[in-house]
Amino acid sequence: MVGEGIVKGLAETARNFFGSYVGKDRLTTIQYPEERLPQIEATRSFPFLVFDGRDSQQGLRCVACQICEKECPPKCILIKKSADKKPDAVGKPQFYPAVFDIDISVCMSCQICVEVCPFEAIKMDVDYNLSSDDRFGGLLLHKEQLAKSNEYYNKIHPTEATAVDAHFAEERAKTEAKAKAAADAKAAVEAKAAADAKAAAEAKAAPAAQEQPVGGETK
Ligand code: SF4
Ligand code: SF4
Repeated sequence: MVGEGIVKGLAETARNFFGSYVGKDRLTTIQYPEERLPQIEATRSFPFLVFDGRDSQQGLRCVACQICEKECPPKCILIKKSADKKPDAVGKPQFYPAVFDIDISVCMSCQICVEVCPFEAIKMDVDYNLSSDDRFGGLLLHKEQLAKSNEYYNKIHPTEATAVDAHFAEERAKTEAKAKAAADAKAAVEAKAAADAKAAAEAKAAPAAQEQPVGGETK
């Protein structure tokens, strides 16, 4: 029937309108910003940079490889790589972003930057309350504003963040096992070299001792 869809839509609207006076389940709107709808874990707004430890800049996982900058479709990421290396959250010297800006007025929340980052350094935030009356730079976020802790990441995306933490722990365990194996091998080589040197010294000393005249046998 022509117009059946419109009639059904209007009927649903009427049911919600009148029903909202008698039942809460018919209330399809909320009193924002006082009230917020609960967010599902897969919610995504704009990217942020994850840091480990307490220092939001030293602990940034980003090593300024610039892959995300190249892959971002609307080119809203600007990165300037540092000239020097600084210790990261675990004390390992790393390059870092001297500048890391995202223009979220251009960002289309596609998450490609997250997908391509090899260091789990950039993730999608869930915060959408970002409006600004500063049209010149109010939505241009710098690395200081973009940096958020791993605890925050765990809070907003627990499943994903737990998997990332487990992956890092596994990688750390592998690296430590490799380092221990290398140290053990080095110690074994050094011990063998020391044993060989001792044996050689003893072998050298033995003939000399045999050549010594035995006391009382001389005429
Ligand atoms: S979410 Fe997409 S558009 Fe936004 S910064 Fe990342 S790659 Fe660029
Ligand atoms: S966020 Fe990831 S991909 Fe982008 S520059 Fe930093 S380490 Fe590279």
